[in-house]
Amino acid sequence: MMYKLLKKMMNRWRWSFLPGIFMGSFLNSSAMDSSKQSLPNVVFVMADDIGYGDLGCYGATRVKTPAIDELAKHGVRFNQAYAPAATSSPSRYAFLTGAYAWREGVSILPANAHLSIDKNTYTLPKIFKEAGYTTGIVGKWHLGLGSQESEVDFNEPIEHGPLTIGFDYAYYFPATNDRVPCIYIENNRVVNLRADQPIRISYSQNISEDPTGEEHPELLIMDELTGYHNGTIINGVSRIGYMRGGEDARWDDEKMSEHLLGKTIDFIEKNRDTPFFLYYAPHNAHEPRIPSERFRGKSEAGIYGDVIEELDYCIDQLVKSLKEKGLYENTILLITSDNGPMVKEGYDDDALENLNGHDPYNQLRGAKYSLYEGGTRVPFICSWPARMKKGFTQEQPFTYLDMLATFARMLHVRLSLNNRKDSRDASELFFNEAAKPYREYILTQNNNGAIAIRFGDWKYIPAQENKQDELYNLKQDPSEQHNMKKVRPKIVRKIEGILDKYQIEIE
Ligand code: CA
Repeated sequence: MMYKLLKKMMNRWRWSFLPGIFMGSFLNSSAMDSSKQSLPNVVFVMADDIGYGDLGCYGATRVKTPAIDELAKHGVRFNQAYAPAATSSPSRYAFLTGAYAWREGVSILPANAHLSIDKNTYTLPKIFKEAGYTTGIVGKWHLGLGSQESEVDFNEPIEHGPLTIGFDYAYYFPATNDRVPCIYIENNRVVNLRADQPIRISYSQNISEDPTGEEHPELLIMDELTGYHNGTIINGVSRIGYMRGGEDARWDDEKMSEHLLGKTIDFIEKNRDTPFFLYYAPHNAHEPRIPSERFRGKSEAGIYGDVIEELDYCIDQLVKSLKEKGLYENTILLITSDNGPMVKEGYDDDALENLNGHDPYNQLRGAKYSLYEGGTRVPFICSWPARMKKGFTQEQPFTYLDMLATFARMLHVRLSLNNRKDSRDASELFFNEAAKPYREYILTQNNNGAIAIRFGDWKYIPAQENKQDELYNLKQDPSEQHNMKKVRPKIVRKIEGILDKYQIEIE
C-alpha cells in the first residue's frame, strides 16, 4: 500500500516537470533512469487503404466506428495528416525509417523483393529498443524480405525481414492480401509449413498446380478486374502471382482480422510488464474484402463498410485488452492509414455499387496512387488517457514521416542528423491545440516517386505525364478544383525553388 502510494507520488512528481502542455519534455531524463513501467506503451495501428472520410470521427455516418471515435473524442484527431506516400510500401518505409521513400526508389513491392531497409539503417523500432522497449510487429509487412544477393526462400529461416531492422517479435504476412504467398510468418519461419508442402512463388509464370483465375473464372467468389489479379486461386480469390505448395500454411481470409488481432493481444499479454512498442498493421480495408461472417452485411455501406466496421471491432477489442491488463491509461494508441482509399480495383466485390452515399474521400480529389489530397490525406488519431484529458482537433498539417523524430523526442533518444534523416519533431502538435506549424512544407509522393508539396495553405503538383503543373489553395478549395498557378506565379516560383533544392541536394 505504502509502496503504491509512494510510486504514485513519484509519478506525479515526475510528470510535474511537464512545462504546461508541451510534449517535448513529457519524459524528463529521470524517467529513463527509473522504473521502466512508467514509460508509456505505444501501439501504432497502420490500417490499409482507409480514407479520410471512412471513420465516424471524420464524418462518416453509414459506416460506424464507435471504438475509434471514442479514442478521438478524448485524444487528438489530426484534420490535416498526411501519409508520406499514396501507396503502401513507400508510406511504410518512410514511417519506419524517417526517410522519404523516393530517395531509395521504393514503390509497391512484391513478396520476393529484397528487404528495402538496410540492416544498418536507423529505424523507429531501434529508437524504442534504445529506450528500453520491447518491439513487435503484427500484420502487413510489405517492405521486402531476403537479401540483395539471393531471393527469399520461404522454406528456410528468413534472414532479412522485420527482425533485421529492430523488431524483437514479428507475426506478419509478407506483402499484400491480394498477392501470393498467402501465408503468415512468425519471426523468421512460415507458420504451419510442412516439409512435404514446400512453397514456391512466381509473379511471372504459373508454377502452381492449383487453378488460376485466368483459366477458371467459374471458381471465383469475385471476378478479377485488372488482368493481373488472375493468378493462383486461394480461398476462391485469384491473387497477383502464382503459389505452389504450403497448403497447410495458407491463411483464411475470413479469419484474418481475428487472427491478427489475437496475435496483437498475445503480444501485449506477453509484454505487459515491460514497456512495449507494437506496430499493428491490419489488412482492412484492402482488397480482397472478405470480413468474417458476423461483419458481412453489417454496415450500411456494403462490403466496403463491413471491413471498416470489422477494423473498429479490432480496435475495440484491443482497447478492452489494454484495460483488462491495467495498461490502457498509460498506452499511447495511434491509428492511421498507409494511403488513401481505393473502392474498386482488383476485384468486382460490389463495394462501389453498395456505398449507399458513404464517401471514403470526404470530398477530396483523387484516391490511392494519386498526388491529390485523396491519395495521401488520411485519418490520424492519437489517444493517451494518462496525459491527454481533453480531446481536440489538430488543424496543423502533419506527416507521419515525422513519427521517428517525434518518438525520439518523446523518449529522449538523441538523434544524429544522419539518423533523423527527413523526419522532424512534431510533438507539440499532440499536446497543443494552438501549436504553430512545425515544418515549412510537407512532401508527399506517388508510387512512381513523383512528388507533391504542401506549403502553407497551398498544394503544388509539378507537371507530369502531359499534364500541366497545378497549384491549389486548400483552405478555399479543399477539393483541388481551381488551378491557381497562373494567378499566383510568386508562390509557384517559391515552391519550385524548394523542389529544385531537393533534386540537387539530398539533405
Ligand atoms: Ca495500402
